[in-house]
Amino acid sequence: MAHARAADTAMILVTNNEGWSGVSCTAQALATGERAMDAIEAGIRLVEADERVRTVGRGGWPNILGEVELDAAIMDGDTRRTGAVGALKGFAHPISIARAVLERLPHELLAGDGAARFARDIGAERSENLTEDSAAAWRRWVDANVSGEARHRWPEGPLEAHCRRAVDPERGRDTTVFLALDANGSIASGVSTSGWAWKHPGRLGDSPVIGAGSYADSRHGAAACTGAGEMAIRCATARSVVLCMRMGMSVEEAVNEAARDLATLEGGLVSRVTVHAIDAAGEHAVAAVNAEAPLHHWLWRGGDTVPSQHPVREVGSGLL
Ligand code: ASP
Repeated sequence: MAHARAADTAMILVTNNEGWSGVSCTAQALATGERAMDAIEAGIRLVEADERVRTVGRGGWPNILGEVELDAAIMDGDTRRTGAVGALKGFAHPISIARAVLERLPHELLAGDGAARFARDIGAERSENLTEDSAAAWRRWVDANVSGEARHRWPEGPLEAHCRRAVDPERGRDTTVFLALDANGSIASGVSTSGWAWKHPGRLGDSPVIGAGSYADSRHGAAACTGAGEMAIRCATARSVVLCMRMGMSVEEAVNEAARDLATLEGGLVSRVTVHAIDAAGEHAVAAVNAEAPLHHWLWRGGDTVPSQHPVREVGSGLL
């Protein structure tokens, strides 16, 4: 499947705000000839451990009950095996547990208590992921948004109305997304997130849903999304981008097509999504739909000394 190529054709594409603490590690790993899967996992583990990143791993925003539920997925573009975990509580590195699902189980996705059970069984590192700071931010949100009888009975009672008012305190800073092409021509994708702040318990975003939040195929390329996962799920965005490339589109045309599709959605949470993609030739494209603030991404190519930051193109509805 993979073919030999010079190490300087390796590359990675990483989200900006969430990815910076892992991007150099992944770049260095690829520069020394490591496999895309290994390089991605190593970089994402650093982001998951970094409490300053408020939307991934320890320190991530909790759900509406104040519990941190984490989502992650990894995909090997050579075999198209995937591993994903959703609504996972109490573990430090969802990306590594996702990888263990890929390597050790006949399944592709585990969620909730079952995912935690598997994590315990394999001896995964435990972690109290709710930091004091995130707990305080959540408490302020509850105090400001839940009143009267509902607050008195909290957290009993229906959550539906409260979820509709849940807004991420750091709009535009969300999932960490890593897409890599290694020196052997293998492509992999990895994503990890605490998801939408104050979400309904058990809510899975696009990140653990392979084909929505990420997809990798070494023959063609890889894609992954940040932003409102509900939209990427409805459009199966990541798989769509890779399929468009398979059907002959350039990576840029494929991302534009996915953005056009997202922009036609109606109802539900129609909010910002950023689509990231690379192809098997080492080209890339990133486009934001309805961005609420200027966004950036990291890019590193074999031969670069360090990863560099680039602005994300906003496509809005101009492509319709
Ligand atoms: N896509 C993620 C989710 O919906 C979070 C984000 O990137 O904004 O859970």
